[in-house]
Amino acid sequence: MPDSGRIANLLAQAAKRLEPVSDSPRLDADILLARAIDMPRSYLFAHPEDTLDKAALARFDASITRRVAGEPLAYITGTKEFWSLELMVTPDTLVPRPETELLVELALRDIPRESAWRVLDLGTGSGAIALAIGKERPLCSVVATDRSEAAIKIARQNARQLDIANVEFTVGPWTDAVPGCRFDMVVSNPPYIRADDPALARLAFEPESALVAGLDGLDDVRILANRCAAVLVDGGKLLLEHGADQEKEVAQILADAGWTAVACTEDHAGRPRVTAARRPASSANL
Ligand code: GLN
Repeated sequence: MPDSGRIANLLAQAAKRLEPVSDSPRLDADILLARAIDMPRSYLFAHPEDTLDKAALARFDASITRRVAGEPLAYITGTKEFWSLELMVTPDTLVPRPETELLVELALRDIPRESAWRVLDLGTGSGAIALAIGKERPLCSVVATDRSEAAIKIARQNARQLDIANVEFTVGPWTDAVPGCRFDMVVSNPPYIRADDPALARLAFEPESALVAGLDGLDDVRILANRCAAVLVDGGKLLLEHGADQEKEVAQILADAGWTAVACTEDHAGRPRVTAARRPASSANL
């Protein structure tokens, strides 16, 4: 067998092919090769001289070709880790981003450990935020909604797979999915990308409806600012993820809609990414 067929060389060649599309070409190659031979990644480091049989080589090659075409690694492997939870993801759901863990972190800072709060996650996708909160706060009941029935199906499977029983899922656009309900907190990672943002070219495999929100990217933030007060208790909190350049506009939209204590928090990279707001007690205009 020529050297080129050995694990070490296959990984080096694949990493090179992946350079233009991936921030972590070597890691992607490792993960896809380990998957093609159904072994843990550690096997690759221990056996760099091994060769692959024909079928494994074909599997590896096919997966690298998909990744080179720009498909997210998570869609190829079918899973993505979020908040230490192994989530199933499909093209019906956005791939959960590590930045979104900030939203979870801020929610958990507010939700008392020993209280049975009711928490609502709007636009849950794979269920990432709702399941992380549900897992960390077992006394809480979390309701998660999404307009996509296909996404809710995946989210329900994730809950079952992870054995998280305090999260309930329901289909419908935003708060329409929870008529007559009241919550102590509402969290959401809505679509917030501008329709003409060139960055969308790199996100072509993900559901556009989970990414794009009108010309300025704020259509859904405006909807949430106007509708969420109706499903919150007096003094209840809203936490919204948004783009790093949207802090001011989001604050203005929330203030205009009557929310108080509007405050933005930076992510670990120092970018303003999550804005919190409070529903004033008995506010007639909300
Ligand atoms: N943070 C994602 C991105 O920029 C977008 C997610 C969203 O629109 N909610 O890739």
